[in-house]
Amino acid sequence: MNIPSIDYLLDEAAKDNQPIWQIVLREEQADSGLSIDELRERVKKTYDVMREAANGGISSEIRSVSGLTGGDAARYYRHLKNRKNLLGSLSARAMAYALGTSEYNAAMGVIVAAPTAGASGVLPGVLLAAQEEYGFTDREAVNALITATGIGAVIATRATISGAQGGCQAEVGSGSAMAAAALCDVMGGSARQTTHAAAIALKNALGLACDPVAGLVEVPCIKRNGMYACMAIAAADLALAGVESFIPPDEVIDAMYQIGCNLPACIRETAEGGLAITPTGLKAKRRLFF
Ligand code: SF4
Repeated sequence: MNIPSIDYLLDEAAKDNQPIWQIVLREEQADSGLSIDELRERVKKTYDVMREAANGGISSEIRSVSGLTGGDAARYYRHLKNRKNLLGSLSARAMAYALGTSEYNAAMGVIVAAPTAGASGVLPGVLLAAQEEYGFTDREAVNALITATGIGAVIATRATISGAQGGCQAEVGSGSAMAAAALCDVMGGSARQTTHAAAIALKNALGLACDPVAGLVEVPCIKRNGMYACMAIAAADLALAGVESFIPPDEVIDAMYQIGCNLPACIRETAEGGLAITPTGLKAKRRLFF
């Protein structure tokens, strides 16, 4: 699904006095030929997979296939259950679910790319936590997911969601923008507020390097998902309060792309820069591959 701009989504929403998710559904229907009911059913199944992955990651101390990571999601979830968390309940749950999903991914569990496997924890982390906290229905969660899809589609259409092309800002940054929009939408934000939530989240990921240790989607990816889930909640909260991004959402997306094009290759998923070539990162790589 190609959506040219956030402005397009906002114009269509204003024209028909509809929320963003209805515009996105309409676009996807035209693209896929599926009925609205079929599309909603697909998104609901997607949400079920997200829930299973998050729970799979926190319920026991799973290890990644490489053995490099694992156990942190369950460790943090215990911390939360023991009421030791410093983060508020929503952010703490989002952290746990985001870590859980990302660890599940590293253990080769089935996840939903949102927008990529590396960034698969942020959106479910935020949405599952918010549903537990605020008790909205699965139908409302599905609407929020569709909104997030629209934001992701705009980023993919006019910029990139690939770490190899744009660095981690394009992966986890986009995931955070999608999650911020989903949360703002489901908590009653207007279409404009929803897009500004996305812009605020994405702005705060600009320049983020893709520097995975040993080229594996584990370090720093897993914890980054947790941290950017919290960032998404902060962005949604600001937008719901009426705070806007000074730079309009489409311009933020364009800036992200321009920065991505200017990032050196060593921090675009090649594992030749940043954390990947620290002494500890290189030692881990040698241990795994030599
Ligand atoms: S560091 Fe690279 S591989 Fe890891 S999540 Fe970010 S973009 Fe993906």
